[in-house]
Amino acid sequence: MRTLVWFRGKDLRVADHAPLADAAAAGETIPLFVLDPYFFAPERAREIPHRMQYLVESLAELARSIEKLGSRLVVVGGKSTEVVPALARELGVDRVVGYRWTEPVGKERDRRVTKALAEIPFDLYDGETLATPGKLLTGSGTPFAVFTPFANAFAKDVVVGAPRRAPRSLPPVPKLPRSVVAREVAVPVPEDLGITPNPRIVRGGEAAARARLRAFLRGPGARYDVGRDLMGEAGTSRVSQDLKFGTISARAVFGHAKEALAEHPKARRAYLNELVWREFAYDVLEHRPDVLSEPFRPAWQGFPWREDEAGWRAWVSGTTGYPVVDASARQLLTEGFVHNRARMITASFLAKHLLVDFRRGEEHFMRFLTDGDWAANDLGWQWSTGCGVDAQPWFRVFNPVLQGAKFDARGAYVRRWLPELANLGDRWIHQPWEAPAAELARAGIVLGETYPRPIVDHAFARQRFLATAKGHLG
Ligand SMILES: Cc1cc2nc3c(=O)[nH]c(=O)nc-3n(C[C@H](O)[C@H](O)[C@H](O)COP(=O)(O)OP(=O)(O)OC[C@H]3O[C@@H](n4cnc5c(N)ncnc54)[C@H](O)[C@@H]3O)c2cc1C
Repeated sequence: MRTLVWFRGKDLRVADHAPLADAAAAGETIPLFVLDPYFFAPERAREIPHRMQYLVESLAELARSIEKLGSRLVVVGGKSTEVVPALARELGVDRVVGYRWTEPVGKERDRRVTKALAEIPFDLYDGETLATPGKLLTGSGTPFAVFTPFANAFAKDVVVGAPRRAPRSLPPVPKLPRSVVAREVAVPVPEDLGITPNPRIVRGGEAAARARLRAFLRGPGARYDVGRDLMGEAGTSRVSQDLKFGTISARAVFGHAKEALAEHPKARRAYLNELVWREFAYDVLEHRPDVLSEPFRPAWQGFPWREDEAGWRAWVSGTTGYPVVDASARQLLTEGFVHNRARMITASFLAKHLLVDFRRGEEHFMRFLTDGDWAANDLGWQWSTGCGVDAQPWFRVFNPVLQGAKFDARGAYVRRWLPELANLGDRWIHQPWEAPAAELARAGIVLGETYPRPIVDHAFARQRFLATAKGHLG
């Protein structure tokens, strides 16, 4: 049996990689990665610099790991819908295997590849999530639209298997025909894609992903139930990009956390619950692929969003005058990450305070988040806006000052990202415009010069949103 194992960017690991392990057990194995211009054309890659940096770093490590096991990652350029069927024929493989994608773009690609492969079987494995997206249904056979019943069904019906170890060795790649060798290219470095490496992006690759999870489970994991909401603390696992690119499998994260946090049941419950939110996001995307362009709730179609270029620019650059919102904007651009609580606050601010279409913010996050993931990002944006599945009710409008005071009481998060506010006292750190003149002078702040005044008044913005939403939603 000769198998082409197609790594597709969401499975960049050798441990717990069922298609690879099964292929190796069955005989000749050719590991393949295709540099598809859909992502790798420099003009495309430059649009998503943080994700691409992480991706190529992870790809380079994958190639090294496969080599250490006695094989070789064959890397070729070209459109995967053309290259994969052509290679499969040139190599005379008996089948092509890989992991299934839930995203519509991946499904369309796979439909075309299946058609072009014709008589050659193309076997897609489940594994990007713990449960097969779309399989869990309510008692009446409909998709879940609320998280808690989904999580209950998950707990009842899904058995999460133990992760498989990496193979001890892999069969060497057979001699490749010249036509295939001619297509081979090196794994790119960020510079090849026109990306200047950013040292603040988390390290890619399987080893770094495992190390992050281990450090979390040995450290802050024990109090995750409390720490997860504190924006100034490193209280979360930071494995979102690892799950997104599959440098660690979902079941490895689930299994290790379940075991390691056994003595901290509250933290364990809270952490596993977040992993189930990820499951939910994929389930929603499976049932409703249109959410990537439309609100989940039909009543939100045609919502009267405002064109507010000045507001948009302030939100993107972190100059709205609301410290938590500005800190998150700068964290995003600087290190390709935003704390979950800050994501909720800033998403709500864009959609509700500024009445800017949430899809613009969603797209901006997808450009700069290293963990930018279509399913989870869309769920988060639609939740924060109030138009999504199990969303925060639309009439609840986050107050960025109160959110800051509650989840960043000493202002550690804000001070880290807005050094111009570093010397302001805790009492004013989330509302510098309320600080007495003497306090501002002491902290070296000149409002409107060193830090902006709020671009919109909270009470006014709240009323404006409520009136607009009521008018549209009835
Ligand atoms: C507006 C908005 C946009 C978001 N965009 C993304 C995105 O593009 N990619 C992404 O992975 N997450 C996204 N999230 C969810 C969440 O913010 C991140 O998963 C989390 O902050 C990542 O940090 P962590 O790995 O330390 O998380 P932890 O708190 O340690 O959680 C562990 C894992 O659980 C999963 N998870 C946690 N919370 C959620 C959630 N609400 N929805 C789905 N999965 C979750 C992630 O895979 C995460 O790595 C978004 C949330 C919001 C509100």
